[in-house]
Amino acid sequence: MTTLSIHNPATGELIIALPADDAASVAAKAAAARAAQPLWAAFPLARRKACIEGFRTGVVRDLELLAATMTRETGKPIKMSRNELNGLLPRIDFFLQETERSIAGETVFDEGGMREQIQHEPLGVVANISAWNYPWFVGCNVILPALLTGNAVLYKPSEYATLTGLEICRLLHEAGVPRDILVGLVGGGEVGQALLEQEVDGVFFTGSHATGQRIAQAVGQRFVKLQLELGGKDPTYVADDADPKAAAESLADGAMYNTGQSCCSVERIYVHERSYDAFVDAFVQTVKSYRMGDPASEDTYIGAITRAPQLDVLAAQVADAKAQGAKLLLGGHRGEGPGNWFEATVFSDVNHSMELMREESFGPLIGIQKVRDDDEAVRLMNDTRYGLTAGVYTRDEARAKRVLSQVKAGSVYWNCCDRVSPRLPWSGVGDSGVGLTLSRYGIQTFTRPKAWHLRQPA
Ligand code: NAD
Repeated sequence: MTTLSIHNPATGELIIALPADDAASVAAKAAAARAAQPLWAAFPLARRKACIEGFRTGVVRDLELLAATMTRETGKPIKMSRNELNGLLPRIDFFLQETERSIAGETVFDEGGMREQIQHEPLGVVANISAWNYPWFVGCNVILPALLTGNAVLYKPSEYATLTGLEICRLLHEAGVPRDILVGLVGGGEVGQALLEQEVDGVFFTGSHATGQRIAQAVGQRFVKLQLELGGKDPTYVADDADPKAAAESLADGAMYNTGQSCCSVERIYVHERSYDAFVDAFVQTVKSYRMGDPASEDTYIGAITRAPQLDVLAAQVADAKAQGAKLLLGGHRGEGPGNWFEATVFSDVNHSMELMREESFGPLIGIQKVRDDDEAVRLMNDTRYGLTAGVYTRDEARAKRVLSQVKAGSVYWNCCDRVSPRLPWSGVGDSGVGLTLSRYGIQTFTRPKAWHLRQPA
């Protein structure tokens, strides 16, 4: 039997070795889900909603235990683990409130004995291959609306957040979701690959651009609905009329929260030349106040780097920036082991020939670049193949709208950053992905709108 070893990234210690899935078990689970799905879809929505309400109760009841588990296996600071779980509750409420309205049947034409109607049917059996950085958010963004709309879900949590993934399954099963309707799969990329070989009706993936490409290739021949939520290189522009200190405090948090391991972490900052020096000073002062240390400790802000290979990516971006003349203002080194640590790192005087301004850092590393005006900021913000989020800090709403309407990104922010709302669609442009989650569209995406043409007999 194969096993999956789960380590604590803050200490390197083995937490547990779990029995893992293999090709045969994945196939058997997929077949069971296929057989079970029609009955689940035939239940009244109220019955499926009752299961999700029970899940919410379980999350609230077990919150401390769930936060501790997530912190242990991902290195996320404990306060941020609690924040993620508390932030999940309004998402659950949104899905509970909005599903009925989002998938209600519609009559769109009714004249002369001819009626046209749209009816939302579940896709059927969907695969959810997920990331570790916000495992409750990214897992539940798919699982909850997919279940509510009548689908079965084959869910492969990241190998770096499997205990959390299994907790999501436990709480949903305890709340009444049948075991063949939400099926957890344990393992790494090879189990994800085995899942893609099953007859599924949709593939919903959250993860890196490189894996997204592999997944698109694997399912490309099969005409299966495919959604890819990938990385970003999220830029923000600080205009000369913004308060540099307030902007710096907000953006330091946006860059370093979750140890910089958020898909919408601020990854590039452009500052108008008139406020550049004041901004950079305030930014460095704020980041200096962030304490790196034991993720279980209440005053830790910078936790462990979850995946050890990312340390090499960060070190290479630092070396490249230094070699090309960037100014290192803070950090720049790996922390001492055991475990995976990297200091909060700030560069100024960067430019787009440097890797840290082009490719996702996914860690506590940020570059700040001076710009002459709004046009240069827009040009640089768009100088990327990613397009997840982008922001601007200015007192002037019209100026913000002018800038943001020119930026190619799925989400845009005025005087805020690193923010996700269940009410708004979450999507990427370009290499940041295809499809969307959240909002009413992120509920409808788990359905197939069927067109009914109904003519009354004369
Ligand atoms: P990853 O691509 O390494 O892994 C994601 C998942 O894919 C894991 O479950 C993994 O086991 C699985 N996998 C790996 N190889 C596979 C294969 N060949 N076939 C099938 N499955 C395979 O990504 P990660 O490190 O877990 O997540 C970090 C990335 O996710 C970052 O780039 C981040 O920006 C992105 N992300 C995006 C969003 C978003 O909403 N756009 C949200 C969170 C994270």
